[in-house]
Amino acid sequence: MTGLVYKSTGSWYTVKTELGTTYPCRIKGKFRLQGIKSTNPIAVGDIVDFDLDTDNNENPTGVIKYIHDRKNYIVRKSVNLSKQTHVIASNIDQVFLLITIDNPPTSTSFIDRFLVTAEAYSIKTVLLFNKVDTYDKETLDEVRYLAHIYREIGYECIGVSATTGKNVDKVKAMMDDKVSMFAGHSGVGKSTLVNAIEPNLDLKTKAISTQHSQGQHTTTFAEMFDLSFNAKIIDTPGIKGFGIVDMEKEEISDYFPEFFELKQNCKFNNCLHIEEPKCAIKDAVEKGVIAESRYRSYVSIIEGEDEHYRTDNYN
Ligand code: GDP
Ligand code: ZN
Repeated sequence: MTGLVYKSTGSWYTVKTELGTTYPCRIKGKFRLQGIKSTNPIAVGDIVDFDLDTDNNENPTGVIKYIHDRKNYIVRKSVNLSKQTHVIASNIDQVFLLITIDNPPTSTSFIDRFLVTAEAYSIKTVLLFNKVDTYDKETLDEVRYLAHIYREIGYECIGVSATTGKNVDKVKAMMDDKVSMFAGHSGVGKSTLVNAIEPNLDLKTKAISTQHSQGQHTTTFAEMFDLSFNAKIIDTPGIKGFGIVDMEKEEISDYFPEFFELKQNCKFNNCLHIEEPKCAIKDAVEKGVIAESRYRSYVSIIEGEDEHYRTDNYN
């Protein structure tokens, strides 16, 4: 049988078949996945093949024997075991990044770091500017300006209000037939929006985000939910960003789509777009083709400022 992993709590996995039947499943023996040194072999979002244990006909359980290739996956680094990663979720179709201008403020540097990671993970991001009901003209202009920058690069941007319901239908329509996640700083309105989309779905995002403390190892268990319309949400407790991706300096500009498009015009093919002469990226920044804020974010990632981006994205 084939099914989708909805929940993982250590040794048991909740797997749902296409017919909608749910079975608790285990793994037998050792599972090794290509290329990932992971503390958990199976994650929420995985598609797995399993055999039903026929010994217990009343409450049948399954034994997972195969994991289908993942389209993508997100990880966090295990706190205790160096080099080990914990796969939080896989096969994510899209993530909605909630942004608010001033309550709380979301910086362009945070947005860009998020987008870089999402690009590296091959996960589509949609930018939702939330709380538009609260903005004065000046703040709305800022929303328009940011939306313009990110639309030019190719990201879809929508102004929404989780409390008045503005454009919530649009978000719902985009979720149809897809697995979605919601991200953003604590307080941007993730729970409120998800509640507007699906009342009564009580996500963990909020509850756990307040009790984070560095150094304390809280295991991150993600969970998938079927919504009342044809959509799925993966809820990951306390995640505002996307965790760590190990990137070489040379590949970072590949995850800025508008840089990637131009970089073959740089004089040096290993150009880092910092000090080098005849750099197409710096040229484009000067001409206003690439936004200065994007370039600033790029430089700060290259220079490794703000190291916490790599180590503490989980609060
Ligand atoms: P989370 O931490 O991202 O889950 O944020 P919450 O959903 O808990 O929202 C934080 C606060 O912002 C709550 O007081 C919400 O009522 C409020 N809020 C969320 N969305 C909106 C919105 O679109 N407009 C307004 N005015 N307030 C909002
Ligand atoms: Zn260059």
